[in-house]
Amino acid sequence: MKNFITITIGLLIGVFSTSAQNWCGTVEHQKKLYADNPELEEASEKRTAAFNRLQGENSASGVRNDDHYIVPVVFHVIHEGGDENISLTQIEDQMKILNEDFARLNADTTNTPSVFAEYAGDARIEFRLAKIDPDGNCTEGVTRTFSNLTNDTHEDVKTLIQWAPEHYFNIWVVKSISIDIDTDLDGMILGFAQFPGQLWSKPETDGVVIRHDYCGSIGTAQGVSGRTLTHEAGHWLNLIHIWGDEDCGNDQVNDTPTAKEANHGVCTNHFPWDRGCETGSGQTITQDSGEMFMNYMDYSDGYCQNMFSLGQGTRMRSAINQYRVNLTTESNLIATGTNDNYVTVDCAPIAEFKANFTYGCAGDGLNYESHSYNTPVDSISSYEWTFEGGTPSSSTEQNPSVIYNESGIFKTTLTTTNRVGSSTAIKEAYVNISPENADMPAPYFQNFESHEFPTFDNNPHLNWTTSESEDPSWQWTTEVSSPNLSPIDNNINSASIRIRSSEFNQIGEKHILITPSIDLSNTLTPVRAYFDLAHARRNESSNDNLTIHVSKDCGRTWTRRFNKDTDAL
Ligand code: ZN
Ligand code: CA
Repeated sequence: MKNFITITIGLLIGVFSTSAQNWCGTVEHQKKLYADNPELEEASEKRTAAFNRLQGENSASGVRNDDHYIVPVVFHVIHEGGDENISLTQIEDQMKILNEDFARLNADTTNTPSVFAEYAGDARIEFRLAKIDPDGNCTEGVTRTFSNLTNDTHEDVKTLIQWAPEHYFNIWVVKSISIDIDTDLDGMILGFAQFPGQLWSKPETDGVVIRHDYCGSIGTAQGVSGRTLTHEAGHWLNLIHIWGDEDCGNDQVNDTPTAKEANHGVCTNHFPWDRGCETGSGQTITQDSGEMFMNYMDYSDGYCQNMFSLGQGTRMRSAINQYRVNLTTESNLIATGTNDNYVTVDCAPIAEFKANFTYGCAGDGLNYESHSYNTPVDSISSYEWTFEGGTPSSSTEQNPSVIYNESGIFKTTLTTTNRVGSSTAIKEAYVNISPENADMPAPYFQNFESHEFPTFDNNPHLNWTTSESEDPSWQWTTEVSSPNLSPIDNNINSASIRIRSSEFNQIGEKHILITPSIDLSNTLTPVRAYFDLAHARRNESSNDNLTIHVSKDCGRTWTRRFNKDTDAL
């Protein structure tokens, strides 16, 4: 019988309650940006003035009506190997919807009430998937990254991958989103954008984050309108919610009637929908028409939305002209393969893979799957796998099965080839196999006094495992210790294992510490684990969790046996 004890600490800042429907986190994102960077908010005051001035100029001599902008786009799919790793076809469906909406080529323009139809129009902005990546390599305009940051995504996801925002419109596709500790929108946010700017924005977080099940209208987004990105791209090009984010607020667009608040659930059968706001200064559309709830920048259901106003189109083109013009230059279109004359070519694959589990016992079989991308699967002509420690030690199947008979920590590699080229994915220490029979009988004891901890060169079966992380994780320290628990070394009491959440970079980080395998076959039940613990709360919003899981199958599956949150700690 094999039994493990593992100690897991996850730092999860922010506990959220759910609220009524809500689906865009852009305003919360902006508030958080300003809270973290007060200088940006100061600059945003100037922004507002500049925008108002800009719009005035546009009506006279700024952006011309025949200007047509092309924007190169890259989708970064952040996934854990599940459904959220959406297909290129689903992304192409999203691009089609986005471009139809922006060009007013959507099928439901006839649903625009006639009083608004004359104000609706082509925004003259076109989005194209990049065909050349920042290194000059052929791309389908989609990157794919394994990361658990796809869950409850915050800004952190953008640190995984971003292509230079002056050359590409970055869109991250994730499983779920939670914006900020101050909101109650967790689980309700379908996407969020960052407004454009230079002085008042941060390039390293520029772009849009969107949930996979609202990206497009097919695949995992079957049954949704695909207009979350239409709305978020509007923000990314400087559009404000149509109600100006306050009671009868100003969205700085003259041909949208002033609106009282977000129109959740309002649809065409509500027309006319007048909730008594006054006509704003400079407004060119009469308030008698009621509110333009079918505008993409409202919160009505995507199926009820069908228009940008001409003024919104002008404002977006102004934003491009002013803040994002480099994206649309002919030289950038050529550099990203999005110019009219670009001839699409087949790309070489990018090798990627996943096993159904990576911790196991000697004798376990693993099922590998190729997740290679950047080319259609049927264009891949060969798969060359090598499995250190595995039987077989190599394979040419697409999705091979491999048995690991010996304990150890092993590397796996996959080279994927098509007629254009090949690529290799190397994962060091990918498979962690424990002996089938643990040779360390209970009672097991660890006082962390060895300065070698967590590895013991002379007794590797005693090694503890820590999660891979670039951030500070579990660390051996002599700065903290607990009363002596050792039944062996009575005089030693100087060290411990410690983790410091103040050094973490990202909300929601998990740091894992795994004990060696312990043989409990000759142990009286119930089995108990004891440990000493000290915890200091970092600040009022800290929300650390300590959980302990037990595995009877060498870490393949885990059962939670202990969980304490910050208050309990
Ligand atoms: Zn929004
Ligand atoms: Ca308006």
